[in-house]
Amino acid sequence: MSADMQSRYETLRAEYETYQAAGLKLDLTRGKPAAEQLDLANELDGILDGFYILQDGTDVRNYGGILGIPEARALGGDILGVPAANVMVGGNSSLTLMYQYVTFMLPKWRQTPDTPVKFICQVPGYDRHFTICEHFDIEMIPVPMLEDGPDMATIQELVAGDAAIKGIWCVPKYSNPTGHTYSPEVVKQFAALPKTAGDNFAIFWDNAYAVHHIYGKLDSLTDLMSEADSAGTADNVVMFGSTSKITFAGAGISFLGASSTNLAAFEGHLSSQVIGFDKVNQLRHARFLKDAEGVAEHMNKHQAIIEPKFRMVEDKLSAALGGKDIAAWTTPTGGYFVSLDTKPGLASRVISLAAEAGVKLTPAGATFPHGHDPEDRNIRIAPTFPSMAELEPAMDVLVNCIELATLEQALAT
Ligand code: PLP
Repeated sequence: MSADMQSRYETLRAEYETYQAAGLKLDLTRGKPAAEQLDLANELDGILDGFYILQDGTDVRNYGGILGIPEARALGGDILGVPAANVMVGGNSSLTLMYQYVTFMLPKWRQTPDTPVKFICQVPGYDRHFTICEHFDIEMIPVPMLEDGPDMATIQELVAGDAAIKGIWCVPKYSNPTGHTYSPEVVKQFAALPKTAGDNFAIFWDNAYAVHHIYGKLDSLTDLMSEADSAGTADNVVMFGSTSKITFAGAGISFLGASSTNLAAFEGHLSSQVIGFDKVNQLRHARFLKDAEGVAEHMNKHQAIIEPKFRMVEDKLSAALGGKDIAAWTTPTGGYFVSLDTKPGLASRVISLAAEAGVKLTPAGATFPHGHDPEDRNIRIAPTFPSMAELEPAMDVLVNCIELATLEQALAT
């Protein structure tokens, strides 16, 4: 090791010790809206003002209507980019709808108890998709996420070569955690994918961040449903979304978009467990957000709150680590996360160093199936929940730990 490196190491170590001594208690793990963002939707409370009867006479307080009220289906259609007739509105979680859709498909996929069922998972990706697979004993095949979407050449080869692959998880816009949006070419390739796959292949198109821009402009995402309609594969596509990060994360409404055939069959599947979802909340949301324009206006208010936080993350990372060839990170223009890669073998070390200095980071491996990042390098940063005053020291600690861990590794070799 050079003298320069040694002295840089000592400087960083001294800085690290001051962070340790400061008794910080900061948290960069929570991919959820800050209270200030939730406040933007407080008008939901009381918005109905005693008005519960829809134009068609439906009393939203009563049982019934699994597909949801027309007003909320139209809103879901605007968000997912599909006709309202193809939308079902669920309860407060699109993740529940995804889980339910897996239970709906599973008997077709697993005709005997030991039939293998496999899913392709983009990595890094959303940990709760992986948890659903784990829960149903579905084997996960990781495929790298690239800047324009997952590695389609690998996916095409895998799917064509193994009929046990029954599904794929996608977060097509402002992906979790990289923030990338699938290119038009990738979306077209997705529309064609079921043609070479085994029976009942399902594309889980989780558009959780469809309207969530950071810097004032939305990426455009090619409409998979119309591409799939043209390709004759619409029955292989199921879309999801929700208002979790639009209104209240714990008390929003969720959406599922599917072909008419699949929607009717899925409604039948749900009818043995629910008489209808919370239509009062659906009406509140329809009243509050109104339509695509209403959603866009509302999302601009979120943007004003989250933009400085994402800028802070980017500025801290580039000021401290830029040009040093020790880490690579994404600069998303939407979504909720920044994805950072350290040098191989260092993510867990960085995370434990940060923890010892009072900064909690998402556990290493969380963005990979079974919590195992084979290269131990990915770290998911979630800037929305902490205040700016918390985010700044948290980022100072993080960049310190990344450089420190990198030098430690260099020292040891
Ligand atoms: N899908 C993705 C990609 C997410 O990142 C999240 C939340 O972080 C969800 C779904 C959860 O959505 P919901 O609150 O509608 O269950």
